[in-house]
Amino acid sequence: MTAIINSGTSYQGNIDSLKLANENKGFIYSSFGYHPISSGKLDENNLNKVINQMKENMDNIVAIGEVGIDFFYVKDKSEREKQKEIFKQFAELANEYKKPILIHCRDGERKAFNIIQDYDDIPEVIFHCFSGSMKTANRIIDKGYYMSVATMINYSKRHQELFKEISLENILTETDSPYLAIEKGIRNEPSNVRLAIEKLAEIKGLTFEEVDKITENNAKKVFNI
Ligand SMILES: [Zn+2]
Repeated sequence: MTAIINSGTSYQGNIDSLKLANENKGFIYSSFGYHPISSGKLDENNLNKVINQMKENMDNIVAIGEVGIDFFYVKDKSEREKQKEIFKQFAELANEYKKPILIHCRDGERKAFNIIQDYDDIPEVIFHCFSGSMKTANRIIDKGYYMSVATMINYSKRHQELFKEISLENILTETDSPYLAIEKGIRNEPSNVRLAIEKLAEIKGLTFEEVDKITENNAKKVFNI
């Protein structure tokens, strides 16, 4: 492992993420986000604070995100609409500043894709922990976007089948630490990315080194590191 992207999902989380990046220059990189679950419960002040925080730190971050859509936890119609509106604001920001965007998406992959595809100046689009359909995956591939696979591939048959079909050219690897540990109740760690790469290699019939090299090069290109 040569680098870590540490993504914030809140104002304070973004501050913490940048601190960690500054303490580990050249190894940990920061991205600033605002979790879609917070977007549903809209707090204009908080949102504007995060938007300003992003603008002030564009040179210090490698991407905008996690931002996106989460309909898994949010069922309320008006909250879902707010999520989409706020996601569009972040997409506009990424478009204006020409920053890669890291999308958190749960039960809304197609909707997120339909929104993001209109922003032609966003240099790179990454669907983190991609869990959408193969149909959406194909549309993502056609646009040259990326899908990131986490350690859930180690235990989720559905993700194994999905990522078997997705070309490595469009794949990044991650852990989503501290979440998605292979054993329940245990804290996930960035070093476990090795397990995701191992599984990906196994289902694709390739060596660890091949998968490691391609996905690492993808990440370097995407985040310009
Ligand atoms: Zn996420």
